Amino acid sequence: MLIETTGLTKAFGGLTAVDDVDVGIEEGKITAIIGPNGAGKSTLFNVISGFHSSTNGKITFNGEDITKKKAFNIAKLGIARTFQTTNLFEQATVMDNVVIGHRLRTKSGVFDALLQTPRLKREERACREKAEEVLTFVGLQKESDRLVSDISQEAKKRAAFAVALATDPKIVFLDEPAAGVNPEETGGLVALMRKMVNNGLTVCLIEHKMQMIMELADHIVVLNQGKKIAEGTPEEIQNNDTVIQAYLGG
Ligand code: ADP
Ligand code: MG
Repeated sequence: MLIETTGLTKAFGGLTAVDDVDVGIEEGKITAIIGPNGAGKSTLFNVISGFHSSTNGKITFNGEDITKKKAFNIAKLGIARTFQTTNLFEQATVMDNVVIGHRLRTKSGVFDALLQTPRLKREERACREKAEEVLTFVGLQKESDRLVSDISQEAKKRAAFAVALATDPKIVFLDEPAAGVNPEETGGLVALMRKMVNNGLTVCLIEHKMQMIMELADHIVVLNQGKKIAEGTPEEIQNNDTVIQAYLGG
């Protein structure tokens, strides 16, 4: 397993948002995390990516214990993520968003920035080249100079993928990558996620669009009220009574 959680728990005061969860994410595969609203899916991502500390349990990446690491160091290891609400700078161009995102993760020290050192200039150049490469990869090369506020919701989702990919991750966590996107446009995002995996990436996503998950995921993990209630192939999950109950029971 590329990522493995054991007994992972996150409590907010009296509320246990993630409750004793064991999840394994296999390298080179697409793993989907599903479950009703409030099930703890985003919190699981927040804890794995270091945005929240865990209350209990363990997280390993390639066998290495990363439980106590901070978000910045987890990102440096090659674990990237997108957010449920795309956190792009709306008044900046698509290109600048990718460059800024990249810089936030790989920044030089303050002195480099103040003194405009050769190292900083080198980094700038490398940053732009990388941004062009990932924008081409996600199919946004023609939109790179447009303001984020002027592009479609689907293009914003692609831009958020590009920001995540600019750090050369080994795994990307995508929180509701197709949320708010027209059904006719989700096909392109599905193709893009497949392309990521074909390029050696591991993908883990949260998504509500069930049809999309069923055709895309290799492995599905179902959460409900913080607990893992089922996991398996799309076929197994579709026919799982506990899962059906969780969705119908609300
Ligand atoms: P999902 O992504 O599956 O819809 P979340 O992980 O966002 O669910 O939320 C799980 C539970 O944890 C919800 O009850 C939510 O209100 C709560 N929660 C999430 N984040 C916080 C937080 N930062 N502080 C307090 N409660 C939170
Ligand atoms: Mg969520």
